[in-house]
Amino acid sequence: MGYQMFSESADKKIPQTSCGYYSQFVRQGGIVLTIVAYVSIFYFGAIFGSFFTVLGTRIPIKENFTTTRSHCIHCQHTLQTKDLFPIFSYVSHRGKCAYCSTKIDAMYFTSEIISGFVACLLYYFYATDLWQLAALAFVFSLLLVISIADYLYLLIPDRFQLLLLFGVLFRQAVLPVADWLGAFISFFVIFSLLFFTSLSLPDGIGGGDVKLLSILSLTFGLEPTLFIILLASFSAGSYFLHTHMAKGSSLQRRLPFGPFLAASAVVVHFAQMLLIR
Ligand SMILES: [Zn+2]
Repeated sequence: MGYQMFSESADKKIPQTSCGYYSQFVRQGGIVLTIVAYVSIFYFGAIFGSFFTVLGTRIPIKENFTTTRSHCIHCQHTLQTKDLFPIFSYVSHRGKCAYCSTKIDAMYFTSEIISGFVACLLYYFYATDLWQLAALAFVFSLLLVISIADYLYLLIPDRFQLLLLFGVLFRQAVLPVADWLGAFISFFVIFSLLFFTSLSLPDGIGGGDVKLLSILSLTFGLEPTLFIILLASFSAGSYFLHTHMAKGSSLQRRLPFGPFLAASAVVVHFAQMLLIR
């Protein structure tokens, strides 16, 4: 009888309790593993972001990016390994050069952070579709290189546009269902619309921006590309007003539109992905 009671209570309690502990342990372990995975992916993205920033900085002015070591553009001091850790080096030196204390353009830090976030988003949405992951990582990396070039030199080199075209066509090719007719109609409509706008308003939109948007429309489609133009115009306008009012005078130079277009393309893409889910 005593044994029976013990056995009954044991049957009721032990399996439930141990199972509860076990599933809790697995759940917590899973959460920890997920956090470690995303932090690693974020930093991996930041390392690539740092590299693409170098490409965008050097290629337009024909500076070698394989043999020339990274250096401070102000004092020319060659950067040591400890100065090359994305995000950490910038934060530990409080955004200044470790050798001459000149303020480093926040562009470097911003592009590393953005790349980290984009890498996490790509992994979240495309971990099960490696071709799409690779194609979009290629397209978004090029958009970063293009943004850096346009931000620094107010130009988007044609070779970047050609690579982007290749990336966009590659992405179309690996889509589960690709609407090629729709892609070419979007391209034709966006190109005609922007080309005639640029002819009638020469100071409005640059030739590089027309090419960039036309290429993107091939894979983004007509409506999302119109959203990208709308969001980029709104954010560039707000930025212009903000800097205009802060400085109290007109801007020293033309505002680069490329970074706003690139950022809007990324935002519109992931917003669509969230809406689909
Ligand atoms: Zn320096």
